Amino acid sequence: MTELQRKNVFISGGSRGIGAAIAKKMAEVGANVAFTYSKSQEQAQAMVKEIEATGVKALAIQADAMEAEQVILAIQKAVSTLGAINILVNNAGIFELKSITESTLEDYERTEKVNIKSVFAATMEAVKSMPAGGRIITIGSVNADFIPFAGGSLYAMSKAAVQMMTKSWARDLGDRKITANVIQPGPIDTDLNPASGAFAESLTAMTAIKRYGKPEEIAELAAFLASPEASNITGSVINIDGGITV
Ligand code: NDP
Repeated sequence: MTELQRKNVFISGGSRGIGAAIAKKMAEVGANVAFTYSKSQEQAQAMVKEIEATGVKALAIQADAMEAEQVILAIQKAVSTLGAINILVNNAGIFELKSITESTLEDYERTEKVNIKSVFAATMEAVKSMPAGGRIITIGSVNADFIPFAGGSLYAMSKAAVQMMTKSWARDLGDRKITANVIQPGPIDTDLNPASGAFAESLTAMTAIKRYGKPEEIAELAAFLASPEASNITGSVINIDGGITV
């Protein structure tokens, strides 16, 4: 498949988990891939080799999503190396589980910076040169709309914020033929939420299909939203959650 040949994709947090699966899938369908990471340098370099082996260009950029300026510089580096970004995947995110009775303002600021401000900064910078036919894909969470456990207020806040920001960008950018959509995963087996972790049993029980999702399943949906066939889908919020919200 070479559906995205000569397209440039930028993924925040592409060294592990869902972002890494999206990076591999985008390369498989022919796109050049730039991605950021914060700490996992070795994994990032291994990803670059794996992506380049498919015949496309790959670029790993160390950029802490806590710092909006670093995110903006990362987008600029990707644009100067690969060219304008056609597909932006806002993926990097953190999950902090803490009750309001234990939370601090530092917790609030950390979640707000990584999960919201960095998404705003990346999109603001990327759309400056994004050509017609561009795509913004934000990885939100079903917790934007549904919070079946205690301690999730900051995470839920952040995912509700990126949901509405991304829907709003569909309005801002529609006349440039750029779409903006939100993928809201349910439990997906990654380091952030391992299928063998402390919450796995209760979360699995809540799904309709009684299993965790796989990062590759999110990547398939992201690749579809990036494809020309999805040009009439914009402002949409798509849950991919094994029916946990049913
Ligand atoms: P992982 O923790 O497995 O991977 C997170 C990725 O984001 C890594 O590449 C990591 O880089 C990067 N990252 C984390 N913090 C920063 C930072 N400060 N600056 C730059 N990069 C950073 O997470 P998932 O793959 O599970 O999650 C990806 C997205 O999907 C998140 O937005 C998450 O909220 C969302 N999601 C996940 C669900 C799940 O069940 N897994 C469910 C619903 C939504 P590094 O390797 O360098 O640390």
